Amino acid sequence: MNKEIRLFDDIQILSRGVYLQVGFELKLLDDTIIRSNEPEEVLSYTYEELGDRFIIPWRKFKGKLRRLVMEQQRYFGIATDCSLKDNLCLSCPACLLFGGTGETSKAKVNYNLLSRVLGETLISEDEVKDIKSYTANAVDEINLSTGQALMNILTVPAETKFIGIVTLRDPTPELTAILIDNLKRLNRIGASTREWGKCRVSIVGYNLHDRENISVYEIAKNGWPKDIFDKDIAKLNLPTDIEQCYRKVNEQFQRVIKEYLEK
Ligand SMILES: [Zn+2]
Repeated sequence: MNKEIRLFDDIQILSRGVYLQVGFELKLLDDTIIRSNEPEEVLSYTYEELGDRFIIPWRKFKGKLRRLVMEQQRYFGIATDCSLKDNLCLSCPACLLFGGTGETSKAKVNYNLLSRVLGETLISEDEVKDIKSYTANAVDEINLSTGQALMNILTVPAETKFIGIVTLRDPTPELTAILIDNLKRLNRIGASTREWGKCRVSIVGYNLHDRENISVYEIAKNGWPKDIFDKDIAKLNLPTDIEQCYRKVNEQFQRVIKEYLEK
């Protein structure tokens, strides 16, 4: 690709093959419950070359991120009725970013939206050393005895750092600003987040290209690639008024939908 790659000014339905990869680090500030469907299991994965690592599956991370975007746009009075899971409107900035299926949505529209946000498994920077185990007594409220009801809670230890990459297809400055703002708003992760899972996300840098050319796996193995990865996110010149970003994306998207439906 010879043309200089830049963020787009408009929104189009068909992809134009530009990918913005935003690299971030997620640091656990407290113990965190990240488990698979087995109730008493911490999610880790044994890689041949990386050894044992804690992981956070993208679908868990994405679910959280989408909820944050949706609550933020509701705060700005946009698509206040759009909600997960079967109540998506398919016409708001959050639906544009994260996608949805027309038929199963409340909107019953005849189109689907592919997610513009692409993700991958988050992998811990270091190998798994200890998995903490808490034993909690479930107290019977009537006779105040604990009886047999002992719960075993396994957690990923505080201060574990995860490497993450989120990719935005066909990025505009506004969509990018919304995505990055909400990455930073993601302050809890995992299960039982009322009491567990405080975390902090920091943006490491970005890569804007005609392909996804960095991955979490490779970073976990070789570190952040200095040659293709720009730490200075200010170069993207992103707008700072997030409310205005939602309004602009919303207007652009409404126009695209209208044109599509009139065809
Ligand atoms: Zn929506």
